[in-house]
Amino acid sequence: MNSEFNLENLVRPNVLKMKPYSSARDEFKTEGQKMTFLDANENPFENGVNRYPDPQQLKLKQVLASQKRVSVSNILLGNGSDEVLDLIFRAFCRPQVDNVITLPPTYGMYEVLAELNEIEDRKVLLKNDFQPNVERIFTEVDDKTKLIFLCSPNNPTGNSFSEASVEKILRNFNGLVVIDEAYIDFSADKSWLERLEEFPNLVITQTLSKAYGLAGIRLGICYASAEIISILNKIKPPYNVNELTQHKALERLSKPEEVKQEIVVLLEERKRLENDLSKMGFVKQIFGSDANFLLVRVEDAGKKYEQLIKAGVVVRNRSNQELCENTLRFTVGTPEENNQLIKILKQLEA
Ligand SMILES: *Cc1c(COP(=O)(O)O)cnc(C)c1O
Repeated sequence: MNSEFNLENLVRPNVLKMKPYSSARDEFKTEGQKMTFLDANENPFENGVNRYPDPQQLKLKQVLASQKRVSVSNILLGNGSDEVLDLIFRAFCRPQVDNVITLPPTYGMYEVLAELNEIEDRKVLLKNDFQPNVERIFTEVDDKTKLIFLCSPNNPTGNSFSEASVEKILRNFNGLVVIDEAYIDFSADKSWLERLEEFPNLVITQTLSKAYGLAGIRLGICYASAEIISILNKIKPPYNVNELTQHKALERLSKPEEVKQEIVVLLEERKRLENDLSKMGFVKQIFGSDANFLLVRVEDAGKKYEQLIKAGVVVRNRSNQELCENTLRFTVGTPEENNQLIKILKQLEA
């Protein structure tokens, strides 16, 4: 392991040397004056989206920066957090040379991206309480370990990782610690964003796909030091966040009360669902959730899954993941959808 954190040593040498593609919109930026744009080969007839979008998404970042109390230079936006995660792989991991650490059972994209980029994925199983096995993580780390992925709250288990474990990993690992906070808005725990300045190796990803209700527009957010962000900026496709997405995201972010109210409803529904499920005979265990879903151990997950499909309800069978044998993952729906689910499950019991 490196003796101390050094960002230049972590970045792939080709990325370090690279000059980013310079788009027409990068080369000339307006400061409010009315200009005639004949530089980007666009169709000049206005229809709302005939111009290229802002490659740096400045307005959107300014709103996020003020809401999250960080600086614009700490933010990178992507086409979903999936693109953000891929950029992190490509900026830091040398194919066939470097490795990353993931903590299954967890989000499947880390493994897919590792495979795609030909990076070894060193899997360190969570402990039985679904907390990181910190000791084992450090036995897996070597001088080619670039990234550790911590999904907290974790998908599909629903729990948050303890502050002490995360802090230990941040303090003792000299690569980047990527904390995926896709479900943070449903959690009672605080975001690690508050401590961004404390840890030069901390990268946080969030998304508008879950609590913000905008999975369809694909907007993922990465928060990190300005140095890390400028490296990711260098390799991102110039127009990776389209105009319609930027517009829709700004509209939603301007109504924080609406988002908050939906979260309140979903948290109440999560509690109700948990309570109703706990009374059912086929339910063996309900795992505590900090997210908008419940992982539930049942008698025969495959059978229950099929029965639900027949009744018109699709849940996720997570049984093929280690530590998740015979589990179903229920996303919290609207009150009406949850009523439907409970009614069907009760009928299946009778
Ligand atoms: C849903 C989810 C995401 C969201 O990805 P997007 O590409 O932003 O939609 C990211 N991480 C985890 C763990 C998720 O469950």
